Amino acid sequence: TVGQIIPPPAKYGGRHTVTLIPGDGIGPELLNHVKELFRFSCVPVDFEVVNVSSATEDDVNNAITAIRRNGVALKGNIETLHTLPASHKSRNNLLRTSLDLYANVMHCKSLPGVQTRHNNIDIMIIRENTEGEYSSLEHESVSGVVECLKIITRTNSLRIAEYAFKLAREKGRKRVTAVHKANIMKLGDGLFLQCCREVAAGYPDIAFDAMIVDNTTMQLVSKPQQFDVMVMPNLYGNVVSNVCAGLVGGPGLVPGANYGRDYAVFETATRNTGKSIADRNIANPTAMLLASCMMLDHLKLHDYATMIRNAVLTTMNETQLHTADIGGQGTTSEVVQAIMRHIQSKGPLTSEL
Ligand code: ADP
Ligand code: MG
Repeated sequence: TVGQIIPPPAKYGGRHTVTLIPGDGIGPELLNHVKELFRFSCVPVDFEVVNVSSATEDDVNNAITAIRRNGVALKGNIETLHTLPASHKSRNNLLRTSLDLYANVMHCKSLPGVQTRHNNIDIMIIRENTEGEYSSLEHESVSGVVECLKIITRTNSLRIAEYAFKLAREKGRKRVTAVHKANIMKLGDGLFLQCCREVAAGYPDIAFDAMIVDNTTMQLVSKPQQFDVMVMPNLYGNVVSNVCAGLVGGPGLVPGANYGRDYAVFETATRNTGKSIADRNIANPTAMLLASCMMLDHLKLHDYATMIRNAVLTTMNETQLHTADIGGQGTTSEVVQAIMRHIQSKGPLTSEL
C-alpha cells in the first residue's frame, strides 16, 4: 500500500505478531471469530491481546506501546460516552493521533448477494484521520459561548492528498474528488482544497474535481456510481463513509484501515461499537473478517488474505446464510462456520507453506 516503505516488523520464526484490541460491544466476539478463522486456516499470525477500557489512560498507552512494537493492529471499537467530560478524549482517536495514522482508507463496493437500492458502486474514500474537526480543542470562552476548533494544516492536507492520488494511480483509478465546504470555511477548507489542487497538478493521468459536502451526500444517495476516489477532511470523511457503507449494505459489511508512515491499524470502516447487539451472536462478521484480510495484505500474506476474502464473499453470495442486518436469519457463528467449510473445501494453501 501507499506509504508502506518499511516492511512490517515483528516476524519471528516466519510468524507475525499483531496487536489485538478487542474493544467494547461486538468487538470481542468478532475478533474471536477472526482468531478462530486464522487458526483454522493456519495463518502465520500470533495475536498480542491488549484490553483497553475507557477508565484510565494507562490502557490506551499500553496499546500504543504494543502497536509501536508490532507495527500492526486489529481492533474493535472502544466506546466513548458523550456524557463524559471534555477532558476525556476518545481512546480510538488518541490511538490514531499518537501513532500518526493519517490516512483512513475505506473501499465501498457493491457486494454480490446483498440486496441494495443501488448497484455497481465502487468508491474509495480517503479520509484525513488526525486533525480537522477531531482536534479535541474545545473551550467555553465565556459562559454560553463554546469555541470548537477545526485545525487544517498545509502539511497534513498535502500529505493526505498525495496519499489519495498515489493510491488512485496504484489502483488504476481515473478520478479523485475532493470534498469540502470552502464556500463557508474559506480559510480552513480553502487550504485543504488548494492543497488537493496542487497535488493534482502532479498527476496529469488522474482527473481531479471538487464537490461541496452537502451536494456530495445528495449525489451519493441518488447517483453513487459517479464517484471514484474521494478525499476529504476528518468529519466529512466520517459522514460520507457512513453514507457509503449504508449504500452497499450497512456497517457490518465494510472494512477500514488506518495507515501512517510506520504503523497500520485495521477495523470496521464505520467503527461501530454495536453495544445493543453485543453477545447475542447476531452481528454481521463480514466487515471485521474483511478488515483482517486487509491486515494480511498489509503483512504481505496475500495468499491467505485472498483465500479468506474469497471464502467470505463466496459464502455471502452463494449461500442464503445472511445475518439479520442484511435480511437473513443466520447467526454470526453459522456464517463463520459456512466460511470455514468453504475454506476446507478448497484444500490447504500450498504456495506460501
Ligand atoms: P456507534 O458505536 O457509532 O454508536 P452503533 O454501535 O450504535 O454505532 O451502530 C450503529 C448501528 O449499526 C446499530 O444499529 C448497530 O446495531 C448496527 N451495527 C453495527 N455493526 C454491526 C454489525 N457488525 N452487524 C450488524 N449490525 C451492526
Ligand atoms: Mg453506540
